[in-house]
Amino acid sequence: MNAEADYRLPRTVIPSRYELRMEPDLGSAGFAGTQVVDVEVVETTSEIVLNALDLIVAIAEMVDGAGEVHRATSIEYDSEKERVILGFSASLTPGRWQLRTTFTGTLNDKLCGFYRSTYKDEDGNQQIIATTQFEATDARRAFPCWDEPDLKATFRVTLVIDEDLVAVSNAAEISAKPVGDGKVAHEFAETMKMSTYLVAFVVGDFEITGPVDVNGIPLRVLHTPGKGHLAEFALEAGAFALRFLADYYDIPYPGDKLDMIGVPDFAWGAMENLGAVTYRESALLVDRKRSTQNELARVADVIAHELAHMWFGDLVTMKWWNGIWLNEAFATFMELKCVDAFRPDWKRWLTFAHFRASSMDVDGLSATRPVEFPVASPAEANAMFDTLTYGKGSAVLRMLEQYLGERAFRDGIRRYLKQHSYSNTETDDLWAALEAESGEPVGDIMSGWIYQGGYPQLDVTRTADGFRLEQRHFRFLGEGEATWQVPILYRIGTEEGRLIVAHEPVELKGSDGLLLNRGGDGFYRIDYPQETLADLADEFARLEPAERYTLIADTWANVLAGATSTAAFFRLVEALGEELEPDVWAVAIGGLAELDRVVATDDRPELQARVRALVSRRAAELGWDPAEGESDLTRRLRGLLLRTLGNLGDDVGTQITARQVFGQMLEDPDSVDADVSEAAIGIVAANGDESEFDRFLRLRESADSPQDEVRYLRAAAAVPEETTARRLVGMILAGEVRSQDANWLLARLLGHRKTGPIVWQLVKDNWDAILDSMPPQNRRRMLDLIMYRSEPEIAADIEGWLAEHPIGGAEKYTEQQMERLRVRVGLREREGGRLRESLADPT
Ligand SMILES: [Zn+2]
Repeated sequence: MNAEADYRLPRTVIPSRYELRMEPDLGSAGFAGTQVVDVEVVETTSEIVLNALDLIVAIAEMVDGAGEVHRATSIEYDSEKERVILGFSASLTPGRWQLRTTFTGTLNDKLCGFYRSTYKDEDGNQQIIATTQFEATDARRAFPCWDEPDLKATFRVTLVIDEDLVAVSNAAEISAKPVGDGKVAHEFAETMKMSTYLVAFVVGDFEITGPVDVNGIPLRVLHTPGKGHLAEFALEAGAFALRFLADYYDIPYPGDKLDMIGVPDFAWGAMENLGAVTYRESALLVDRKRSTQNELARVADVIAHELAHMWFGDLVTMKWWNGIWLNEAFATFMELKCVDAFRPDWKRWLTFAHFRASSMDVDGLSATRPVEFPVASPAEANAMFDTLTYGKGSAVLRMLEQYLGERAFRDGIRRYLKQHSYSNTETDDLWAALEAESGEPVGDIMSGWIYQGGYPQLDVTRTADGFRLEQRHFRFLGEGEATWQVPILYRIGTEEGRLIVAHEPVELKGSDGLLLNRGGDGFYRIDYPQETLADLADEFARLEPAERYTLIADTWANVLAGATSTAAFFRLVEALGEELEPDVWAVAIGGLAELDRVVATDDRPELQARVRALVSRRAAELGWDPAEGESDLTRRLRGLLLRTLGNLGDDVGTQITARQVFGQMLEDPDSVDADVSEAAIGIVAANGDESEFDRFLRLRESADSPQDEVRYLRAAAAVPEETTARRLVGMILAGEVRSQDANWLLARLLGHRKTGPIVWQLVKDNWDAILDSMPPQNRRRMLDLIMYRSEPEIAADIEGWLAEHPIGGAEKYTEQQMERLRVRVGLREREGGRLRESLADPT
């Protein structure tokens, strides 16, 4: 184990201002830089240690207050610690100095640091973009710096580029001057005091939308040429978010302008560089008429998330990488809050139940981890960006908000941000601010949720005059011993209340009508007595949608854990008949789809018949054509049910219609609703062959939106043919799929019911090349659906292989995926052979 201290720079010299001049050469994939850093020497020293990686520092000198220059006599690199050590013959005495360096580096293809992204222009020529991604610790790949989040400074950037290109950085451009040789120096204003990981430079042949004025801040979208028609929705969602967030935080936007940039090659979803937010194209650029509700919501979510960071993360920043959870958890919480206000009809907090459920799926493993844990190395910091940080972190914040009340919570956030602006914090600083505004012991309540992994299940039993609630550590496999302070909202009869269940059981008086986890925002499960569960199933339609969701999700989790029968799950699912919410349907269908993966082949028709019986009536009511004035969620529900009927239900009539609709859509894309199109493509793909596969690939080539590109690639991966799966793996290896997409494409192929086993063999046969096809930080994600390979021999082979061939930096992640796989192997063993009985007797 490494210690954090091994990675922390000495604090003998502290920077306060960087003046950076960068000259990238896109053709030769190199860059040259010079910088002047205002520093304070705190203790007498003869060396300066700062971060640098894959850089060559040609000249380094220190200039004292009198202007005297001391040139570094040695420049040494420590590549393991990613540092450069500048040695001086004379001592540098305490006081103000300037460090001047000249350096060169490479524009890499790893999608981190200062890197190259490419795209084909209208004439089919390759064009190059130079862009940055510095979080967590890759600013050091672009310029020598004190690359730790609490060493904040201001940045004044100049980018020297070809005159026909566009450049942006964090702050507004203040001048553009020709410097000869067809080059122009673009000088940007000085930024606020901020961390190095938030610095950005983007250079390329971009088009820029006219600015939208938001409270005096110009908001623009930058995109590669010809995509202007895809920027309108982002501008609308961005303008809304900027206003909403400034109001919620009660602090004006901390930058002087805001650019949102679509980058063709991008490892993550987006990055919150102050004033220059970079996005994967599919998270920014969208054709609003031809996109599904999910696709639009994703763009709105990601934009709100990044803009939420401008304050929470950029203005106030974690001291060290162990605090990244709070940064990401809060931005995720805020993204929901903001988009819920932007489009109340989308009911984002209900969809949020999926985020919560998928993090509970991981957090119920013995291989989980605490949300916050000590982080030393950059690799450990990168491993923190997972569902526990984003999903569990945001879900426990939401639970806390609902327990404290929305107003007290918001006031606590305002207090925290005002108190720590331009500075750095630890988790306790937030709890202190929330305690001050709410008067509740927030730190005590939250510590169990943050510093230990897992979550509780509340076992409910009847007493003579009410109910007894007792917590137990929920685990899919094995037992856990942790306890929590569980903030509970409840309803009993018509009375609503809140309480905390801690170590000791709690009694609630009242005769009937008990509902725990009122509102559905709790990060825990409930195990009701049989008769209470039956009552709730009878009352199903009268529960809130989120409460219906959690009831199904909890029951399904207990099926996975082997603690509840599938019959109990079916009984609850039967109660869905009148359901209108796509998210509630989705959680039930998710359980059915998992059963479909493990059911014995002979029993599969029976399960399919049950699925048809469940969804066909509602699907028939909705039909294939949206009614006038229909809500977006109804359109989503239609798409979901049609797809379920055609695939999980194997309904031949639906499959035939899907082909016709797909044909019609190709003739005239605007004549078919986007959610229906997506369902039709999904059904055609899942029942298609090589000729459909070829068509999907052609459609991907000619796609006019990032969403269509993804849609057709996903469709190609769903075709149930060995040959097509082989061809896709071949395309990944040949670099014919963008490296940013290789991980999710492989995950889908590996999780595919039919082609997964052969793809696993191919992945093993080409292991090193497969890993090389992805940016290192994305590699682990190819295991996202490996849990569906629950065929016992394959599962054992996967575990054995990954034990022998660990994916660097993904040890914890792999351990979690292997345990999820074992959970599904257990499900197959228990339920695979007896599903017919459960289906016959749903009582
Ligand atoms: Zn984020």
